[in-house]
Amino acid sequence: MSNITVCVRFRPLSPKEKEADGGAICVQGLDSESFFFKAEKEEELAFCFDKVFYQDAEQADVFRYLAMPVVQDTLNGINGTIVTYGQTGAGKTYSMEGPSISESDGQKKGLLPRVVDNLFEHIKCSEETTKCTVKISMVEIYMEKVRDLFDLSKDNLQIKENRTQGIFLSGVTEVTILDPEEALRCLSRGISNRAVGETQMNMTSSRSHCVYTFLVQQESLKDDWSRTGKLVLVDLAGSEKVEKSGAEGRNLDEAKTINKSLSALGNVINALTTGKVNHIPYRDSKLTRILQDALGGNSRTALLCCCSPSSSNASESLSTIRFGTRTKRI
Ligand code: ADP
Ligand code: MG
Repeated sequence: MSNITVCVRFRPLSPKEKEADGGAICVQGLDSESFFFKAEKEEELAFCFDKVFYQDAEQADVFRYLAMPVVQDTLNGINGTIVTYGQTGAGKTYSMEGPSISESDGQKKGLLPRVVDNLFEHIKCSEETTKCTVKISMVEIYMEKVRDLFDLSKDNLQIKENRTQGIFLSGVTEVTILDPEEALRCLSRGISNRAVGETQMNMTSSRSHCVYTFLVQQESLKDDWSRTGKLVLVDLAGSEKVEKSGAEGRNLDEAKTINKSLSALGNVINALTTGKVNHIPYRDSKLTRILQDALGGNSRTALLCCCSPSSSNASESLSTIRFGTRTKRI
């Protein structure tokens, strides 16, 4: 059975939210695992998770608790997935990348640059007799089409499966990375490509899922062993309902597609945690199909549910929290 950690993160109030409702807050922290939540017209509800990060949480805390064990497992040849979920503006990309991927303030660095640093620290310390290779690929899923962010001409990658590689994207660009600096340059390029493509298609990143894959291969030069771990980080499309985002121009087809893939993700994780392993609905969306061998089997999953603490966003935050609860239920 797969191993899943579900955490909730409340970002600080935005300047706009400080104005709305006089800066009213819908969350009251109890401790580092539970909180009370008050949404309009609802009773005050209590929730409990593996960990709750409040507005003063540091990026390093999130990394240490959520991502470090997953990176460790990847090095041991166990696949892992780290996912950020939440409405647009809730702090998914901030958690994943930081204020920007090349953020120079070490404290503010997001999960991605920390994962990179951590991977290479381990590699540096590993035995001289082990040859280690890290390959990165980056794709975006929009309207059930998978686009290569290292090569925008590949705009409809197909998902395939075979015995040696498991699930893979046929023809995806994989860049072999030799040090953390190179990894960051590479990720920056993918992120700017994403923005270019979005301008061309007249859409915003809130409507697509961004999938970062690190393939870590280790081979002993002395003994007869090798192992491969795949670590996938996913910055999901905004989970908001169409009514609210209608004003921002998300059309109904987009909303339906996003909704379908997010529910598929919830259903897959739920099926895995409840042990209903006979039929896991991986094929219900491109997202779950791509994540299949990083979610199921012998793997570790970490879900970060990102929320606004503002009463003005309470209903969206509540739906994010409920997604987290559903995936956690065992
Ligand atoms: P999302 O990716 O979920 O749409 P963002 O990560 O872009 O949301 O966050 C929206 C805004 O809130 C950004 O301006 C971001 O810098 C800010 N923000 C999000 N989380 C935090 C945080 N933990 N601390 C400070 N600012 C944050
Ligand atoms: Mg974002």
